[in-house]
Amino acid sequence: MAETKSTCCYCGVGCGVVIEHEAGRITSVKGDPDHPANFGRLCTKGATLHLSSAPETLIARALYPELRASRDQARTRVSWDTALDTAADRFAAIIAEHGPDAVAVYGAGQLLTEDYYVFNKLVKGLIGSNNLDTNSRLCMSSAVAGYKLSLGADAPPCSYEDIALTQALFISGSNTAFAHPIAFRRVEDARKANPDMKLVVIDPRRTDTAEAADLHLPLLPGTDIALYNAMLHIMLWEGWVNRDYVDAHTEGFDALKKIVREYTPAMAATICGLDRKAIEQAAQIFATSPATMSMYCQGLNQYSFGTHNNSALINLHLATGQIGRPGAGPFSLTGQPNAMGGREVGGLANLLSAHRDMANPQHRAEVAALWGVDSVPDKPGRSAVELFEGLKSGEVKAVWIACTNPAQSMPDQAMIHAALQNAEFVIVQEAFGHTETCAYADLLLPATTWGEKEGTVTNSERAITRVRAAVSAPGEARHDWAIVVDFARRLGIQLGKGDLAARMFPYTSPEEVWNEHRESTRGRDLDITGLSYSLLETAGPQQWPFPEGAQKGKVRLYEDGVFPTPSGRARFVATEHRITAESPSARYPLHLNTGRLRDQWHGMSRTGLVARLYSHEAEPLLHMHKDDMERRSLNNGDLVEVKSKRGAVVLKVIESATLRPGQTFVPMHWGGNTMGGQGVNVLLPRTYDPTSKQPELKHAAIQVAKYTAGKALVAMRRSEPDADGHLQPNPLVVMDRLRRWLPHFPYASLTLAGRNSPVVVLKARGEELAPALLEALDQDLALDDPTQVLSYHDSRKEVEKRARVTGDSLSAVRLAGETKAAEWLADMMVQGHSAAAVRPWLLAPLTQPPAGQAARGKVICNCFDVAEDDILAAFRNGDSLESLQARTRCGTNCGSCVPELKRLAQSVKH
Ligand code: SF4
Repeated sequence: MAETKSTCCYCGVGCGVVIEHEAGRITSVKGDPDHPANFGRLCTKGATLHLSSAPETLIARALYPELRASRDQARTRVSWDTALDTAADRFAAIIAEHGPDAVAVYGAGQLLTEDYYVFNKLVKGLIGSNNLDTNSRLCMSSAVAGYKLSLGADAPPCSYEDIALTQALFISGSNTAFAHPIAFRRVEDARKANPDMKLVVIDPRRTDTAEAADLHLPLLPGTDIALYNAMLHIMLWEGWVNRDYVDAHTEGFDALKKIVREYTPAMAATICGLDRKAIEQAAQIFATSPATMSMYCQGLNQYSFGTHNNSALINLHLATGQIGRPGAGPFSLTGQPNAMGGREVGGLANLLSAHRDMANPQHRAEVAALWGVDSVPDKPGRSAVELFEGLKSGEVKAVWIACTNPAQSMPDQAMIHAALQNAEFVIVQEAFGHTETCAYADLLLPATTWGEKEGTVTNSERAITRVRAAVSAPGEARHDWAIVVDFARRLGIQLGKGDLAARMFPYTSPEEVWNEHRESTRGRDLDITGLSYSLLETAGPQQWPFPEGAQKGKVRLYEDGVFPTPSGRARFVATEHRITAESPSARYPLHLNTGRLRDQWHGMSRTGLVARLYSHEAEPLLHMHKDDMERRSLNNGDLVEVKSKRGAVVLKVIESATLRPGQTFVPMHWGGNTMGGQGVNVLLPRTYDPTSKQPELKHAAIQVAKYTAGKALVAMRRSEPDADGHLQPNPLVVMDRLRRWLPHFPYASLTLAGRNSPVVVLKARGEELAPALLEALDQDLALDDPTQVLSYHDSRKEVEKRARVTGDSLSAVRLAGETKAAEWLADMMVQGHSAAAVRPWLLAPLTQPPAGQAARGKVICNCFDVAEDDILAAFRNGDSLESLQARTRCGTNCGSCVPELKRLAQSVKH
């Protein structure tokens, strides 16, 4: 067994991992004890990375280049030469006829810095367009724009170590306990070490993060600016503004002062739906604490005024001098693992390499000189939404999508699907061949992924870390950077610039690419000329800037009060409250808020392969306040049709005490691959912030109505390990087969349950359950041989049950009509209960689970498989958290469930 150090590929915390591997297979993963982001800890997602690389997941991988001649044909396997020659031919022909802006690249914050660098050079240097954008636009671009507007550069001033040094932590628009769990472990540690430290959480929902706070401000969605302006109003009134700091290091305060005069606490209380006293208390804590730090994420960024949300919060730091000191400053939490690295190389449609400004002629000339081209274009390219609008209108003819899944993740999915349908040529470069976007690929290029790739990433605290390969690429998958280099040389020849392309793309390793990027940073704010691959290997992750001659990177920025603006002063931004793109109305009376779950990542292309990661929340649920449910006569588990102006989905509803009346919540992970329709993002608007171009993915106005049409269906198939430990049948093959049924139903959910013997579960409800459909489904489930199947059918009562027994256990079940016992049956299958225990139920007109045998509920502790119902029962029986943990070990490994355990303990006390 060998070990290779690398980095987790999920969120921007950027935890170090140690990959254990043997005979070319990844066998296990553990936290890297030496990595400064996590010191050995991993959350549920990171700790199950090896399961997402298990042998059975190979079926979900794109392994060979595939091409199709036309949209009505299936793709067939081709050689890499054919694939890249075709891509170069098509791009060159479109560029020749329509110009360079008729093509575009859409990448991802999960690409490595080296991948990003060559994509950027290809589009802006060789093709001569700025049409290169990435999914970072959906995630961080308002944080970038906010930093630049207020502080002059896209540079988070703080580090993780500031969490331990702060006296007051404001977490705003972030459920850190779920979305950045290892950063939240630091918050828990800091509070334990310093009981005087205050935690203030600003979030419309009472999340587990908010539950842990000393003060929670459950503001109405999109009202942050009014809140921060009112807090500044109070600070001015109370004399808490740090005039010395303001006078010495900032500009623009007077203009902001005039505005905030209007934002009285009473006015903000009305706009934000908050208690005036809570606003005053928050202002006092922020201004008077010896060190105040804020951490924030999509709850500020994903609004059509996200830039100003960021600047309004930064205004408070500048007004109080809470910046550039240990434990003080505005700290944007990066969503993706390498959104920061992407920005470092200029990987967005409005950026240039090494934080250079596209509008600055000198900066463009510097980049052109570095790349050996005459010029780089000055007009910003199409941002994410604009790019897909261009595909829909036909102005953009061809797109190359790499390492991301816009047919799930973009807002206004109906428009995105229409755009991809309308495109003349779609290249998808992907590690996973089953994503929603792959369905649109005319050319599918198989890429390597975590565990197979070499390069670097930069995490939230500006730390550059090596990503290392532990195993070789499967099939014919190639590294992203290498595919781009090969394509660029071929495109160069097609464009009559073969020599130039050969000079521009000489690389034979990611290190050569990175060395060129390093040189591009010389003299810039993110100068890393003092770093090298070998230093990162020997000394571990390093923060930028790290110029030549430096002994270490900078832990904290702006300690001298000098900012990278023309005057050297930070800028107050005069921000005004604005309303969300959509306001609730008589037709769409409810707010919809979106967010992340603890155990899923983005569009689930990787986490969706791991059965245990569904056990915390198995399908997308609409969370709703009990008053709103009562008004609509809804009970937990009922199906509801959720409609916005753009589209509709059918989901199960669940009562939630985390929301105020009028508010709803849905997780953002599910797309058309795992549910009916085009996924939850069909509901969200594509309206974007005019500065950052980040769309308002956080909020929509919706209507909710009970959905009762049609008949219910549940199909389940269990897999078991064979003598070699391989699951039979492969659950991902079963999932793939069942996936084709999703479009047949308005409500459908495709999920995995269990752990070692997982069960694939398809739940659906449709107008008609046609006999032909049921017959075909039975074939998929191996339920088509009557001699091996137990069945019961009562057409009058619409109860139909079919089950197959293999050995002593249930291996497949299909229920049609009445499905109330589905959860119980799934549990019986997951736990491998003897089929004899189920037989009497199966062969009788029973519809409810047997008395006292309800399903065990959601799993709270994923590491030790401890379910919510068992935890609640233990607390009710007098267990303390400590005694529960001593008995079940829940929450003692990765710790991701500790906030929930504490909340459940509290709920029983009340
Ligand atoms: Fe990965 Fe979890 Fe660390 Fe994020 S917090 S980098 S998902 S282990």
